[in-house]
Amino acid sequence: MDIRGGFVDLIGNTPLVRLKRVSEMTGCEILGKCEFLNPGGSVKDRAALAIIEDAEQKGLLRPGGVIVEGTAGNTGIGLALVGNARGYRTVIVMPETQSQEKKDMLRLIGADLRLVPAVPYKDPNNYVKLSGRIAEELAKTEPNGAIWANQFDNVANRMGHYRTTGPEIWEQTGGRVDAFTCAVGTGGTLAGVGMALKERNPNVKIVLADPMGAALYHYYKHGELKAEGSSITEGIGQGRITANLEGAPIDDAVQIPDEEALPYIFDLVIEEGLVLGGSSAINIAGAVRVARMLGPGHTVVTVLADYGTRYQSKLFNVEFLREKGLPVPSWLT
Ligand code: PMP
Repeated sequence: MDIRGGFVDLIGNTPLVRLKRVSEMTGCEILGKCEFLNPGGSVKDRAALAIIEDAEQKGLLRPGGVIVEGTAGNTGIGLALVGNARGYRTVIVMPETQSQEKKDMLRLIGADLRLVPAVPYKDPNNYVKLSGRIAEELAKTEPNGAIWANQFDNVANRMGHYRTTGPEIWEQTGGRVDAFTCAVGTGGTLAGVGMALKERNPNVKIVLADPMGAALYHYYKHGELKAEGSSITEGIGQGRITANLEGAPIDDAVQIPDEEALPYIFDLVIEEGLVLGGSSAINIAGAVRVARMLGPGHTVVTVLADYGTRYQSKLFNVEFLREKGLPVPSWLT
């Protein structure tokens, strides 16, 4: 018998897949961790579960309590679904610029969705800060209490990846992994996996793949937070050193424009049957850059964070892409 106990037991232990075309192109093994196969559809199911279990263990979250979070969407989906399975309600604060598909999903799974204007972090009405204030207010009135998940600065997030994603990658490659690269939203994935792999082999290279519009590439290369350009990707692109990034073992950084990244996920649909989201495009392009830096014969692991269907209205919308001056999937024209 092989039966899982429920939603939470379906999180993690995702397979690692060989990305054929980019592996052949670079002479390296480029492997993708299939995080889109998590039951909530993204890598953020892991962070959601880790944050909720941490709050439960600390006695901060009681049965019937409320979880409040500011999110680009995927963490909200993970929190709402784990919450449904464990008996918590969720209030999700999200910038209105995020994809319609994620908003629809949050409503359909019963989250109390609050869409807010997308303003920079320094603005007091930024979605992350707003979610913290809403949690504070609700904590005073909710009979069973309310917590702020605070994925950016709650290190339970990276500890989840340190305990699960990192060791899984090590086991699945039999320890034959030369580099790990991915983009940063909170930094939980990069930091947690980086810490776990470095502990097993300090020579594993941990490389940030930064989209345009984010400030971390310049920070890790030149010690200065500085952003330039923009990206249509969602859930990634950070402007500050979050608590999850503090002390993370990051060896190097690459900066990836959307024009370079998107063709990889378009090709993957038609040539390999994998339908991935925009952050996976940045991650794969990053893995190709790292593979070229290391030379043939190396193994580079990255993250396939969520499905492309979550961004159909943008990533696979020819009009939207043309308006932005970006490459389009040839078979859709
Ligand atoms: N890809 C997607 C699609 C995401 O939603 C997120 C999380 N916001 C990330 C990547 C980044 O992961 P992390 O927060 O662990 O840095």
